[in-house]
Amino acid sequence: MTIDKNWISLRNRNAKQFKDGLEQFIEIAKKHVNSHGEPYCPCRGCHNGKRQNTKTIYAHVIDKGFSQSYKTWVYHGEEHPNTAAIDAISNPYLFKSGSSPTAPGPEMFDAIQDVMDAFNTNKENEDEGGTSLDPEFDDLFKELNTELYPG
Ligand SMILES: [Zn+2]
Repeated sequence: MTIDKNWISLRNRNAKQFKDGLEQFIEIAKKHVNSHGEPYCPCRGCHNGKRQNTKTIYAHVIDKGFSQSYKTWVYHGEEHPNTAAIDAISNPYLFKSGSSPTAPGPEMFDAIQDVMDAFNTNKENEDEGGTSLDPEFDDLFKELNTELYPG
């Protein structure tokens, strides 16, 4: 099942689409709570670093907005689609800074997301630049060579 998450980037947080999306999120979040019935709050203030009751989460997200980097709801039961890719990326900075946490915090997921973004961007560039040169560039290159070495 794919969840519509386009609403998290809406600027108008009074829009029906935003509120509907948020309500759907809270329904999901209710299934992933601690013993006090509190899920993690994904607002821009808490960034899943704090648990709040669902009413507070609703108010926080309407008030502050939904954390834009929280695109895969790993704190609310969703599995990260790129788990294998993350394992493949050995980034020492993620694990050396500060006290070694036993469980990855939200900052770490943000950092991983950043790494993933960079990784994806690099890959795209590589595909574009690639091994085969652009034919036009190739011609230009030949032309330049001809000019440089006439005859
Ligand atoms: Zn919050």
